[in-house]
Amino acid sequence: MRVLITGAAGFLGSHLVDRFLADGHSVIGMDNLITGSMDNLSHLVNEPRFDFIRHDVTTFVDVPGSLDGVLHFASPASPVDYLELPIQTLKVGSLGTHNVLGLAKARDARFLLASTSEVYGDPLVHPQDESYWGNVNPIGPRGVYDEAKRFAEAMTMAYHRYHGVDVRIVRIFNTYGPRMRPYDGRVVSNFIVQALLSRPLTVYGDGGQSRSFCFVSDEVEGIYRLFLNDTIGPVNIGNPNEFTILELAELVSEAVGSDAGIRHVPLPTDDPKVRQPDIELARSALGWEPEVELAEGLEITIGYFRSLAEQGQLSVPPILIDESGEESA
Ligand code: UDP
Repeated sequence: MRVLITGAAGFLGSHLVDRFLADGHSVIGMDNLITGSMDNLSHLVNEPRFDFIRHDVTTFVDVPGSLDGVLHFASPASPVDYLELPIQTLKVGSLGTHNVLGLAKARDARFLLASTSEVYGDPLVHPQDESYWGNVNPIGPRGVYDEAKRFAEAMTMAYHRYHGVDVRIVRIFNTYGPRMRPYDGRVVSNFIVQALLSRPLTVYGDGGQSRSFCFVSDEVEGIYRLFLNDTIGPVNIGNPNEFTILELAELVSEAVGSDAGIRHVPLPTDDPKVRQPDIELARSALGWEPEVELAEGLEITIGYFRSLAEQGQLSVPPILIDESGEESA
């Protein structure tokens, strides 16, 4: 197959590129590099089955040659990023999704949308299965991401129903692992960087809110299987092992060997209180379930951040979000 992956220079996008290449396929990676980095693709510089095009998918998208698949992973995805880039986030989910669906339609290619657990908002159903419609505040600071992805799902289904495009939708839950940006503001990267710098771990609110963390190799395997499967979805892909943020802080402190403790800072607006995927559909339709436990995945991720520290890339503490949704150092 020859596939286009948008957001190819991002954390998940770049791992997905590797997964397709490992199975012998050819990949065109596309990214405008506003949150992605070519460092994530530098190992592919001599790979003849990989091409890269720097392009913003919110403007007309075209690529040379035939296409069997289009996987749309372009978007700011960390709360810090989408609060900083609200208009771009809305545009890539709406205009960008429209453009790449148009490309998939023109080339008769299968289309896979990277959607998110954020479509469930601050969920009133727990754990969340795919039939839940969500509890999203459209005008809150997170609405730019949540509503862009909800629109993207609607647009994907409209292209499927009205144009017959062969589509897949994956709802991705919190994912971590090597190639996360040290300063992308997410909890796993923030805690590891803080622990490595012997700084207190910044727990937003009382830390009683929960997340379920999936290691990147598991996440990518689930997405790859969905792409090859007949199930349209949406399908939740995530690790159902749920932890409070305080539990995560303890695990990271212990694994890094930091005794700097924790510091409570205000909880950001509309921060979901709980999040846990119901993965019955992924289990039954894709024969997929996660294999990497949090402790094991954290060890690997800490190793990655340690190597960045050795290269002198971790010197300042991570970016935080304060109560007003503003960033602060
Ligand atoms: N969080 C935290 N400290 C940080 C960064 C995040 O306590 O330094 C919390 C945040 O409030 C949320 C959870 O960790 O409850 C996960 O945040 P993240 O930004 O990783 O992703 P989200 O699941 O909110 O999109």
